[in-house]
Amino acid sequence: MDKIDIKSLDFNELEETIKELGLPKFRARQIYDWLHKKLVTSFDEMTNLSGELRKSLDERFYITACEVARMQESKFDGTRKYLFKLSDGNYVESVFMRYHHGNSVCISSQVGCRMGCRFCASTLDGLTRNLQPSEMLDEIYRIQVLTGERVSNVVVMGTGEPMDNYDNILKFIKLLTDENGLNISQRNVTVSTCGIVPNMKRLADEKLSITLALSLHSVTDEKRRELMPIANKYSIEKLMEACEYYFEKTGRRITFEYALVRDVNDKDEDLKGLSQLAGRVKAHVNLIPVNPIKERDYRETAHGDVVAFKNKLEKSGINVTIRREMGRDIDGACGQLRKKVLSENNEEA
Ligand code: SAH
Repeated sequence: MDKIDIKSLDFNELEETIKELGLPKFRARQIYDWLHKKLVTSFDEMTNLSGELRKSLDERFYITACEVARMQESKFDGTRKYLFKLSDGNYVESVFMRYHHGNSVCISSQVGCRMGCRFCASTLDGLTRNLQPSEMLDEIYRIQVLTGERVSNVVVMGTGEPMDNYDNILKFIKLLTDENGLNISQRNVTVSTCGIVPNMKRLADEKLSITLALSLHSVTDEKRRELMPIANKYSIEKLMEACEYYFEKTGRRITFEYALVRDVNDKDEDLKGLSQLAGRVKAHVNLIPVNPIKERDYRETAHGDVVAFKNKLEKSGINVTIRREMGRDIDGACGQLRKKVLSENNEEA
């Protein structure tokens, strides 16, 4: 019999399983506490359970525990990038950032990605597999243990497309924001999508208080299709309808992410289109100077032009910020560290 991934079970499921084993109900609460509050990685650490019980749990379940394969810390802002090795030998990246309002972790939702966005390093080798809820939790749990600092914000903006791993993401959010676990406020969780419309609507129906971010990056279907293959499937009109639906159902404003690529999407006509779309769905706009990757020749918009773009958008009544660039000296862009280590490993092999 295959062992069960105990950290991916929500409390009700754990309680059910514990009952089936003929154990008293209160054991489920104890075990859940060890896993999601005390963040242990073995049954042996569960010291209020008897040795016999720990052994029998170990025979039926396993506890996901990723290992740090590498860590890089930025000299500029203390941002840390972790490369974690999963139990099957795959690698994922997570980033720890300190802000005034608290510590934030950016997690990966898949090993690789199959969305094919042209400017993104995470998708160059395609999708390997989805991450389990326990593996996404573990990215945060490990970082909280390693830094000794509380994580208060989580953004699902690392490698992978969360709406392409829908069920696991939903379970992950529920576990992460459970008051009997790490108890991170749903308002402090952001999920970013390249725009898989049916799942954006499903997420709206869950009526969570999380922030949904849409990677828009261009305001015409034609240009968007050049940058993002997913745009062949869902038009900007369909995306806007999904955004309106999300706002209607949850009362939460959408964020548009807009990576400024020099001479591609940073002209006045782009600005006008962006202002119209953001105005229509009351979106907050987050401008990101594109982080160039060596495999492609996209360049970032000059800093002065980014600021001018922001000021003009603001004047047109749009709520806009420029994403603070953190950890550029540590392969900060999605997927760059993982890719580097994978190619080093290949050279060694
Ligand atoms: N798949 C999801 C989440 C992961 S990517 C999504 O598409 O939203 C997180 C954000 O980083 C997205 O907005 C993505 O478009 C952006 N991104 C990817 N590569 C980038 C790069 N090289 N420079 C700037 N932003 C990038």
